[in-house]
Amino acid sequence: MSNISISEELLSLGAKLSMDEPMKLHTSFRIGGAADIWCEARDIKILSDVIKTCKARGIPYFVIGQGTNLLVSDKGIRGVVIKLCGDFDEIEALGENRIRCGAGATLAAVCRFAQANSLGGLEFAWGIPGSVGGGVYMNAGAYGGEIKDVVQTTRYLDDEGNICEISGKKHDFAHRRSFFTDKNFVILDTVMELYPRNKNEIFFVMQDTMEKRKAKQPLNRPSAGSVFKRPDGFYAAALIEQCGLKGSSVGDAQVSEKHSGFIVNNGKASAEDVKELIRRVQQCVKEKTGVELECEVKFVGE
Ligand SMILES: Cc1cc2nc3c(=O)[nH]c(=O)nc-3n(C[C@H](O)[C@H](O)[C@H](O)COP(=O)(O)OP(=O)(O)OC[C@H]3O[C@@H](n4cnc5c(N)ncnc54)[C@H](O)[C@@H]3O)c2cc1C
Repeated sequence: MSNISISEELLSLGAKLSMDEPMKLHTSFRIGGAADIWCEARDIKILSDVIKTCKARGIPYFVIGQGTNLLVSDKGIRGVVIKLCGDFDEIEALGENRIRCGAGATLAAVCRFAQANSLGGLEFAWGIPGSVGGGVYMNAGAYGGEIKDVVQTTRYLDDEGNICEISGKKHDFAHRRSFFTDKNFVILDTVMELYPRNKNEIFFVMQDTMEKRKAKQPLNRPSAGSVFKRPDGFYAAALIEQCGLKGSSVGDAQVSEKHSGFIVNNGKASAEDVKELIRRVQQCVKEKTGVELECEVKFVGE
């Protein structure tokens, strides 16, 4: 089936589309070729219809959050990239210190909402630039906190387009992993349980967290945050530094001078540059320290 006819079908479902969408516009790395079809779904009905249509036509689909943990290939993404918007951006207070967050909402918006409602527990997430969906998928965490500490229940669409729900331990959270890892399910929304805390106290902790980020991370350059997961008993950045790799580069991709766990795009880095740099770092760290660095960043595309 041609991209034109599938796009006509998706348009008729109420989705907003664009063809040959440059993915570098949607990733924090500012890297990536074009997606065949970029599809914005503003409610569950449209999303479910889009997924059913893709399945019925044998078209691959990929759900993107804020694109802050992705390396999209230079050849781009075949099929449909689905972005949640509209209803999925909503956040509401449910009472009893609980909030429901749409998967498309940014973690920044959720942190601001919690602070404004005098609810503590999410301060650690201030400064993580992803969405709720990406945060749950990745079990995002920082400064001693993780998404797993606050999530109660999550609704998702399975790959047949059915609405399902999991709660508590079923999320199977681990370091930068969850029940959703490597599944083609779409997280719809999640209920978080927080606790009462003074607004000003929350504000000061958030401010402190941001100061720490600014001091340690190269926030003035495009990146996808820490490239590698934390290996048991070590810090990836310390191992990389110890191996003399700080500042090393391939093309415009460079191991950050400020934080060796980050790879930054100094302008025109390609996905291939970043991949080659990752390969060299992994090989050198393995040879010199015996530790295998596993990627936290997800590779997507052709
Ligand atoms: C400067 C910087 C600092 C960072 N600091 C941190 C940090 O301190 N801690 C940390 O953990 N991470 C950090 N990150 C990485 C990143 O922000 C997190 O991994 C974040 O959770 C990714 O969310 P996202 O919405 O951008 O997801 P994306 O990068 O868009 O996607 C990541 C994965 O989640 C999946 N996904 C996204 N939304 C959904 C959905 N609705 N349903 C199903 N699957 C979905 C995608 O398919 C993909 O597999 C940082 C990144 C940057 C650029």
